[in-house]
Amino acid sequence: MSNLNLLKELLLNNFSFILTTHVNPDADAIGSELALYYILKKLGKKVLVINHSATPYNLEFLDDENVIQKFDVEVHQKNFDETEVIIFVDLNRINRVIKVAECVKNFKGIKICIDHHQDPENSFDYIFGDTKYSATGEIIYDFIEETNIVEIDYKIASLLYAAIMTDTGSFRYERTTPRLHRIVAELLETGVNPTEIYDKIYNQFNFSRIKLLGKALSTIELDSTGKIAYMVVTQYDQSTYETTEDDIDGFVSYCLSIKGVEIGILFYELKDGLKISFRSKGKIDVNKLAEEYGGGGHLNASGTRMFNVKIDDIKEKVISTAQKYIEVKNVV
Ligand code: 5GP
Ligand code: MN
Repeated sequence: MSNLNLLKELLLNNFSFILTTHVNPDADAIGSELALYYILKKLGKKVLVINHSATPYNLEFLDDENVIQKFDVEVHQKNFDETEVIIFVDLNRINRVIKVAECVKNFKGIKICIDHHQDPENSFDYIFGDTKYSATGEIIYDFIEETNIVEIDYKIASLLYAAIMTDTGSFRYERTTPRLHRIVAELLETGVNPTEIYDKIYNQFNFSRIKLLGKALSTIELDSTGKIAYMVVTQYDQSTYETTEDDIDGFVSYCLSIKGVEIGILFYELKDGLKISFRSKGKIDVNKLAEEYGGGGHLNASGTRMFNVKIDDIKEKVISTAQKYIEVKNVV
């Protein structure tokens, strides 16, 4: 039996499911879990979608039936106790679900991971997908196509389109293959409107986000090699502009738009620590770099969260660790 047919068996042979995804979810996370939700609903299953984070405001349109619930242990522990299967979407380390992990810890049912990040953790019963996929949405597409589990209708196609469009940087990144474009063509055949989806996700931001971007851009510095660019966003900036963590999505890419820069880093101050986002060009492995600080991700895009650490205490160390990755690349 092919791998994706095994996933089909798991969906057909169980009745109750909880779907969840990572903190601060992106459109691949939300689009993939909602597509899976509608697949399971078509099969007559009992399904809940429970996330640690609220859905970012620019992605709320994807959840037009308000399916997604924000996790609350008091409310949801009972659901986890009564559910046969949890499906983790667009993540491969359980700590990425933050508070939801409390309910996963003692969960007795089946844990399935559907994901395309590097180096999956060993704590799932089944893992579907791997790093050859551009997006988790592409795995779900392959799953439907290969197993014929349901028809791809307009709704599912729109969700998968949003997932794939965003995780490929609007069809720019490395895994944008001829096959991926054929998949997208199939999705568009159902009536998906690419202009509208792009517009809702990327052209409807709050004014305050753009002001914060201006502030973040004004902090950009280059390291001594000129190959690393980094920026800082503090809690003070956040309160000045009245923005949230959702608003910084995409900021770090500006670091890579500078000639000669090969690694971009965003230091983002959290209330109780910091989040670091890494981006790189070519073969520079920022997944490994993030792993050195307890995080992970992809070859060219990764991140980590650290608690009880201040940006000023760690910034220089992170930059010198990043310099090692540039040197390794120059030796190879
Ligand atoms: P971003 O910088 O956009 O938040 O995340 C970029 C990539 O790094 C995403 O693919 C995301 O999954 C991964 N990533 C971000 N933060 C963390 C983290 O704290 N832990 C792990 N394992 N991966 C992360
Ligand atoms: Mn993804």
